[in-house]
Amino acid sequence: MMSKVQSPIIVAVDKPDLSLALALADGLDPRLCRLKVGKELFTACGVDVVTSLQGRGFEIFLDLKFHDIPNTTAQAVLSAADLGVWMVNVHAMSGSQTMKLCKERLMSGGYDTLLIGVTVLTSMTQQMLTELGIHDSLENQVLRLANLAKTSGLDGVVCSAQEAKLLKEKFGADFKLVTPGIRLPDDSADDQQRICTPKDALANGSDFLVIGRSITNAKDPTAKLQQILASL
Ligand code: C5P
Repeated sequence: MMSKVQSPIIVAVDKPDLSLALALADGLDPRLCRLKVGKELFTACGVDVVTSLQGRGFEIFLDLKFHDIPNTTAQAVLSAADLGVWMVNVHAMSGSQTMKLCKERLMSGGYDTLLIGVTVLTSMTQQMLTELGIHDSLENQVLRLANLAKTSGLDGVVCSAQEAKLLKEKFGADFKLVTPGIRLPDDSADDQQRICTPKDALANGSDFLVIGRSITNAKDPTAKLQQILASL
């Protein structure tokens, strides 16, 4: 599957059911963005939502953040690849053995699905890491897990726009950085703590921008998407 979409924007379809998801998708143009299907929507609708959105021409980032023993995780990744999704992700905390096996099986199956690692969730604080027995700094933990993802053969990581600059410098242009927490200057921050504009996120080295409410709550989502693309 060679991707034909040039846009760096991935719209997060955070909707509770199929009809709301399709209503949003019908207001968007698959040449201008990709779509992210996460745990809420996928658990409610299953693969139907993925195939329905693909049927409308969209490339899908299946954001299920798999985290399990190596064989289970790798087979889940293969199931996602069989669905024809463009990108899928696993927790880097699953470890190098799991990540390597995921990549190996994708390669031996001839899939070009992008495999992305989740380092430290951006909702986590230093104190929460300490509670888990991780006494290193949050930044070091992000770097350690991104390095593990890279050396395990993953195609990139999810990270905040603030982390993007450092990660791009350390891991190179080919290592994809997928960045949520994006807002235009006049948008509401909602529950995001560390936000960044689309232009600044790209300047910091992000390759793909995950944007949810800024687009999905807009009166005219397509117009908002076009406004964001024009701002880049
Ligand atoms: O609406 P908003 O633009 O904040 O949506 C961002 C999307 O990115 C949501 O689907 C959220 O779950 C996801 N996400 C995030 N921060 C992460 C990982 C994923 O906001 N670290």
